[in-house]
Amino acid sequence: MATNADDRVEIARTEEGGRKGGGYAVQIVEGEETGGGFKLNLEALKQVLLHPDVVNRPVVIVSVAGAFRKGKSFLLDFMLRYLQHSDESEWLSNKEESLVGFSWKSGSRPDTNGILMWSEPFVRTIPHTGEEIALLLMDTQGAFDTRSTVKQNATIFALSTMLSSIQIYNLMSQIQENDLQHLQLFTEYARLASDYLSEKPFQSLMFLVRDWYHLGDNKYGDSGGGEYLQSVLEVHYGQQEELSVTRKHIYFCFDDIRCYLMPHPGMKVAVGGKEFSGQLKHIDEDFVDHLKQLMPTILDPVNLVVKKISGNVITGKKLVHYVESYVKIFQA
Ligand code: GDP
Repeated sequence: MATNADDRVEIARTEEGGRKGGGYAVQIVEGEETGGGFKLNLEALKQVLLHPDVVNRPVVIVSVAGAFRKGKSFLLDFMLRYLQHSDESEWLSNKEESLVGFSWKSGSRPDTNGILMWSEPFVRTIPHTGEEIALLLMDTQGAFDTRSTVKQNATIFALSTMLSSIQIYNLMSQIQENDLQHLQLFTEYARLASDYLSEKPFQSLMFLVRDWYHLGDNKYGDSGGGEYLQSVLEVHYGQQEELSVTRKHIYFCFDDIRCYLMPHPGMKVAVGGKEFSGQLKHIDEDFVDHLKQLMPTILDPVNLVVKKISGNVITGKKLVHYVESYVKIFQA
């Protein structure tokens, strides 16, 4: 559990270069090494959700899920950097700064299994309502990895989808049929546990496709992603029933579904290695340009989606109770 002081990956509070923030990754759900179970770290969860800036505020939870070693934590660390800068023009100005936050590593061994949250909340005002919310970041590790059991994978993905207001489904190169089948299976698992059988159970879903190569078919970004998504999720006459059922289920489960196509970040990032610590000078320009576009798409106050369950706005305090009851259902 990452709440132990020794395990904390802490960012020093700094205002240098316009960056202001601190915090560390806190493990709230942990997969057990043997037996296929998992456990909730209630104290860790309370530490994040009962923080004075969160406890009575509506929450916005941004979660990233998908197979391991596909750049989820790398992306989350850029989200942190974006959120910790008050000036949008500044956040990518330092080319030498190492990327810190949620741990990210090269290699093929998953180093965390479960759900992590960043300890530092970000208070923002939603422009059209004037409402002050607390934004929190969530990293989901171990779902889809071969070391975890199907039940663990399903539980981790299901829980993170139930808790988040936007689930970012991080995929490499393209959206494949088995990615959609996983999504169908895991969201069905979540839907049954949450008891919302008649209404849309979840909020936003974003397919984030990394290393997009098929530029002849669709351009990078939001609009290329939208066209690509339409072609992938199309339900049409004469389609095999199994394929239509999967697509209809996905449409049914989410209020809003989007897709963003990201360029390859360059070989220094892909290969990783000891001397690479995430500095911008080693990342391809195209990728950096798309980070600049992607971050406000997800994190600008205009685009934030407040967490709701059964139509009710959820505060930090309420979310603690929901997490406890969801976990009990999955453990039963
Ligand atoms: P996670 O397990 O999904 O959280 O993956 P990490 O964020 O720890 O990254 C795993 C490896 O992928 C690291 O070596 C990163 O440098 C590399 N990486 C990060 N983003 C990308 C990307 O967009 N494309 C490629 N090919 N590699 C990436």
